[in-house]
Amino acid sequence: QQQLLLRERPNGLPDENTFEFAETDQGSPEKGEVLLKTLYVSVDPYMRGRMSDAPSYVAPFELGEPLTGGVVAQVIESNSDDLKKGDIVRGNLPFQEYHVQKPSHVSKVQTNGLDPSAALSVLGMPGLTAYFGMMHIGKPKEGETVVVSGAAGAVGQVAGQLAKQAGAHVIGIVGSEEKASYIKEKLGYDEAVEYKKDNFEEQLKNACPNGIDVYYENVGGEISDHIWPLLNTFARVPVCGAIASYNLEEGEKDIGLRVQQFVVKARVLMQGFIVGDFSDHYAEAYQELAKAVEKGKLHFEETIYEGFEKIPEAFLGLFSGANIGKQLVKVAEK
Ligand code: NDP
Repeated sequence: QQQLLLRERPNGLPDENTFEFAETDQGSPEKGEVLLKTLYVSVDPYMRGRMSDAPSYVAPFELGEPLTGGVVAQVIESNSDDLKKGDIVRGNLPFQEYHVQKPSHVSKVQTNGLDPSAALSVLGMPGLTAYFGMMHIGKPKEGETVVVSGAAGAVGQVAGQLAKQAGAHVIGIVGSEEKASYIKEKLGYDEAVEYKKDNFEEQLKNACPNGIDVYYENVGGEISDHIWPLLNTFARVPVCGAIASYNLEEGEKDIGLRVQQFVVKARVLMQGFIVGDFSDHYAEAYQELAKAVEKGKLHFEETIYEGFEKIPEAFLGLFSGANIGKQLVKVAEK
């Protein structure tokens, strides 16, 4: 079976030297273990941080070891009473085609009639992240103006719809015309602003005549510099991520958040968060999201690359905006 290893720590944007494919034994399950076949692998922006050895909230990947991350897999052999052949599970697992695991290391997935890939997107980590950032920190109210950056991505597509359901006027910031149409037509965003266009600042101001009450921050950098002056008194800013700075080269100046003056002036509540901070509320959030999907009130897209060897390309696509919705790799059929 194939594995994907970290060959070299990248400086700046990862490239072909960052990754290495290797062959390894598939292994066989002993008593109390199961053999899993990988169906989907999730590629996520936070994995870039783990490729560096700078201290962070998750440990760095080890050189020469497999990358790990969100995986959905199917039980193909079981020597355990806890899982049976055919069950679909999700876990934080090495990027490889098969896994010998104890059932306690994975959790069984209820897919509610959806493809199991949903367990890595709307009904998985990105969906939960959107839910907690928007509902527990942003707390949008009827009639307020909410802006979401990275609006057509895995987290952004859910965050915007939640704000809309709360009765807010919702504006998304995106990197292409195709994504602008997606968020307006499929997700019900009121307006889309394209940050790669020269008149971005003007578009943004025109889209927010009443200022901004909630800014759901996914990107950081220059895009967000144009947000700060528009923040209203007592605005809330859930700071979810800053993808624009993930590939800075060593010594390159962090384009970071030049925000303090605006935070003071408007008494803005700005809070960084990690989805895991809300683990006590996962069950409740999952129910809310699953119910909304089932009722057709929460739309989502997945961009799916086919084949284990496509993992590096799919990961790099996150930084060029190749994805609409959640970026995933399909490794095998059920
Ligand atoms: P997305 O599905 O949104 O994929 C990344 C998107 O970011 C791309 O499609 C691209 O869209 C946009 N992008 C890439 N580079 C830049 C750039 N330099 N400037 C502006 N936009 C850029 O990823 P996720 O939804 O998984 O993650 C979104 C954010 O949330 C990330 O910052 C991530 O790290 C963070 N996150 C945080 C979590 C937490 O617990 N705090 C958990 C999960 C994610 P476009 O074409 O519009 O440029």
